Amino acid sequence: MNNTEYYERLGVDKNASQDEIKKAYRKMSKKYHPDLNKEEGAEEKYKEVQEAYETLSDEQKRAAYDQYGEAGANGGFGGGGFGGASGFSGFGGGSGGSGGFGGFEDIFSSFFGGGGAQVNPNAPRQGDDLQYRINLKFEEAIFGVEKQVKYNREELCHTCGGSGAKAGTHPETCHKCGGRGQINVVRDTPLGRMQTQVTCDVCNGTGKEIKEKCETCHGSGHEKVAHTVKVTVPAGVETGQKMRLQGQGDAGVNGGPYGDLYVVFQVEASDKFERDGAEIYYKMPMDFVQAALGDEIEVPTVHGNVKLKIPAGTQTGANFRLKGKGAPKLRGSGNGDQYVIINIVTPKNLNQAQKEALQAFAKASGVEVSGSGKKGFFDKFK
Ligand code: ZN
Ligand code: ZN
Repeated sequence: MNNTEYYERLGVDKNASQDEIKKAYRKMSKKYHPDLNKEEGAEEKYKEVQEAYETLSDEQKRAAYDQYGEAGANGGFGGGGFGGASGFSGFGGGSGGSGGFGGFEDIFSSFFGGGGAQVNPNAPRQGDDLQYRINLKFEEAIFGVEKQVKYNREELCHTCGGSGAKAGTHPETCHKCGGRGQINVVRDTPLGRMQTQVTCDVCNGTGKEIKEKCETCHGSGHEKVAHTVKVTVPAGVETGQKMRLQGQGDAGVNGGPYGDLYVVFQVEASDKFERDGAEIYYKMPMDFVQAALGDEIEVPTVHGNVKLKIPAGTQTGANFRLKGKGAPKLRGSGNGDQYVIINIVTPKNLNQAQKEALQAFAKASGVEVSGSGKKGFFDKFK
């Protein structure tokens, strides 16, 4: 199993810290970004770098990848380990072809699970993680903002406190499975007689039986409620970046902790600026006279207008750098730069005075101009 490839894609070694991984990711992303690198295969490389980073930046996924390679990182091996039936959720797709055996799960659990290695149904389990998308205005992503985020999540039932039992009663040990959550079933299979374990149908694997259910949650111990959380969006975030808010996901089971909330940022485009990481691009329309003579102009930036000297003879496509006028660097300090790209505008609908001035200009340049259809100054450029 090749479980070093992701490290190679980022150019770091296996013991790299999260900081080193982030740095390498920024570097490689920039190197292969499809907007910056037009070489063949760059886009493919870019995608590979994203994929590698997605896994290595998440310590849990990274550990799974180190142990099992790509299948591990993609959750193929579940979280339950090999002892419990739940550990084989990743093989679910394969069990269809083995209907006669009662499914992979049963066979594996009877091979490996018989020796008391079952997942304890009463063990505390962390609640599910949730994901929420936050839409940000262009400027909000640059300067950071506070957002109230409201969503529904599972919380512990306020009536029974999570037990699922009616007020004044308590869940009891399941009478059918004795609290194990699993019961033994003997089956005849083509491999012989096998004892398999299945989830107890009385308690659904919890090991507990609720005789009188809580009226609020009907025994689940959880209830769906609207939950509000304040998110401090850091300055400099970009579309697709995620932030983890610990404990803001769904409630756990059997006293386990709450899951986490992942907010994913989606940044609106600006009608003025374009942004790539910490760099901002601005297309500056400019009168051809200003460009020819040179001028000092005012350029909009996200930080306010800035004066910029344009040399005489500036052409369309010329670009000027305004240092530190870009977006904040999310990892690191200071701002990126703004690039001003000049776009020279040819005047339309000239009035008489303007026409005469241009004709005089043409004459001074030694160019013959004809306004009445004969070959002249403007035709030379066709
Ligand atoms: Zn309840
Ligand atoms: Zn039971």
